[in-house]
Amino acid sequence: MPTALELLRWVLAKRAVVAPIPNATGPNGAASANPEAEAQEIGTEKTERQQYLSYFVLNILDHCNLRCRGCDHFSAIARKRFVSLEDITKDLARMSELFGEDVGRIGVMGGEPLLHPQLNQILMEARGRFPATAIQLVTNGILLMKQANAFWDVCRQEQIVIVMTKYPIDLDYGAISESAKAHNVAIEYREEIEAQEKRLYRIPLDISGGQDPGASFSECFHANNCALLMEGKMFTCTVAPNIRIFNQRFGTHLPLQDEDYLDIYRAKTKHEVLQFLRTPKPFCRYCNVSERSFGHPWERSKLDMGEWTA
Ligand code: SF4
Ligand code: SF4
Repeated sequence: MPTALELLRWVLAKRAVVAPIPNATGPNGAASANPEAEAQEIGTEKTERQQYLSYFVLNILDHCNLRCRGCDHFSAIARKRFVSLEDITKDLARMSELFGEDVGRIGVMGGEPLLHPQLNQILMEARGRFPATAIQLVTNGILLMKQANAFWDVCRQEQIVIVMTKYPIDLDYGAISESAKAHNVAIEYREEIEAQEKRLYRIPLDISGGQDPGASFSECFHANNCALLMEGKMFTCTVAPNIRIFNQRFGTHLPLQDEDYLDIYRAKTKHEVLQFLRTPKPFCRYCNVSERSFGHPWERSKLDMGEWTA
């Protein structure tokens, strides 16, 4: 018999499916062949205020050990940078104050979350603050077989679900699945798991800032669908918060404004956060949403600016 807490978790996880997160499948760019179509199929309204927070990304670091072309967190070109355990702990406490149990799902990611040296503590903190929320560790899996028993113990005890995409790289996915099973830890592969070729999408920036922000937002599969929390700031997508990585790498100056994020310590209620998530942001003028394309073969990044602009 499931316990009352397990039932509540199940209900909240089901509710979270209402607003699918394209990059939760990924992580990031390699997640889905066509996340835009997925979002439309589910009928997600970009400007509709959610009744509860169906999902948010807990961004715990910038960098990654895989480097996929056009990664929509810009992790392929990121320098090594971790969000501190202290900041993460504080932010989770504040989110819990604002939302209580009203969060359907949390995706712990970056970057590659297994690179964070305090990942176990982060997962325990997340579970401690959100006992009934579905918590996913979104990883490329490269480091999974090197994890100590303590990692698997935390995943099992805190009911963390490992979410992976199969990339066409030299990785023994069968062995990973067996290891997760042996440790009694849930592991999910994304829906494209059986596909022969993994697919990428391209989400070009318009570095001139010439796009209409409202139009970009209303056509964007990230918008109000992929909230991201990092260092006290809540964003409506994964692109704007990480634009500093793009700027740093290519010497550009695409600006973030105060209106592009919400300070969760200034927000007074969860409704203020949900209202923020549903409205276009100044940064949307840098996203050339009409030129987005889907279904490209997976490949490693060549660290070329054109991967994010063309
Ligand atoms: S570069 Fe890393 S974070 Fe980006 S899509 Fe690939 S695996 Fe994910
Ligand atoms: S900045 Fe706006 S258009 Fe660009 S990804 Fe974020 S929500 Fe979408």
